[in-house]
Amino acid sequence: MTRSIGLRGLAFGFAMLGLLATSARAQEIAFTFDDLPAHAALPAGQIRLEIAQSLLATLKAQGLPPVYGFVNGVREVEEPASRSVLPAWRAAGFPLGDHSWSHMNLNTHTLEAFEADVLKNRSVLEREMPGQDWRWFRFPFLSQGDTPEKRAGVRAFLASQGYRIAQVTMSFSDYAFNDPYARCVAKGDTVAIAGLEHDYLTAAVESIGYYRGMSQTLFGRDIPYVLLMHAGAFDARMLPRLLELYRSRGFQFVTLPQAERDPFYRIDLDLTAPPGPDTLEDAMRARGLAVPPRPDATIFAGLDKVCR
Ligand SMILES: [Zn+2]
Repeated sequence: MTRSIGLRGLAFGFAMLGLLATSARAQEIAFTFDDLPAHAALPAGQIRLEIAQSLLATLKAQGLPPVYGFVNGVREVEEPASRSVLPAWRAAGFPLGDHSWSHMNLNTHTLEAFEADVLKNRSVLEREMPGQDWRWFRFPFLSQGDTPEKRAGVRAFLASQGYRIAQVTMSFSDYAFNDPYARCVAKGDTVAIAGLEHDYLTAAVESIGYYRGMSQTLFGRDIPYVLLMHAGAFDARMLPRLLELYRSRGFQFVTLPQAERDPFYRIDLDLTAPPGPDTLEDAMRARGLAVPPRPDATIFAGLDKVCR
């Protein structure tokens, strides 16, 4: 069969493939998971390792490239049973990054206290990632400093320690579903759990339009997005469906370092550069454009009442 197509036919075929690759180029997304080794309430009958292994099994089964998990070392002290989670993440061949020791909010603490908290996390990362690249920092609560002085100060500190910032350019409040889910499991309320599943996927769909809209308005293109996720029980339950959803919307999965190679993230890679807008929302404000209202606000507001 191949021979009958002939060289000209082959050349034409390759040209068509090239055209398709250009016109149907997928937008890219890097999944990242915060709050390892323990996030939110643990549903009755589950252990932390089980949640991590479920996340890892799904990510592996769906062929994702290495996914960063961001660590708060204090959880291993609070929940000794969670100590098997970070080694499991590493055994899967996935990397770990820094989320501060105690999940400290820079906006409500001094820069000095924050720096000490970051340094305290180091021994955990060095233990799990010997000789490897763990110097990616994810700000707890995404708080990058509530004053220009603090923002510049933390950048100088992180630069001196060789960090890059793991920025967030897509999220849908996934974390807020984990506590209601644990309450619904305790009550055995399967109808409410089905409602959570529906709302979770709806919030994810709406967030895609929200962030893509800002990226298109600002740059006329899709930047590679960095998605904020959390290592919670409901996230683990939903991950197969969530990955299918992103795939069905034309997304291609890349690593965090690959996504942040885009010029949009240059302020997050070079922390000696002056601070500037490094989220899509900030980039809108910097251009004098209105940030659209978050589409998941209604769903988010209702979650606290679920299974009370
Ligand atoms: Zn966090």
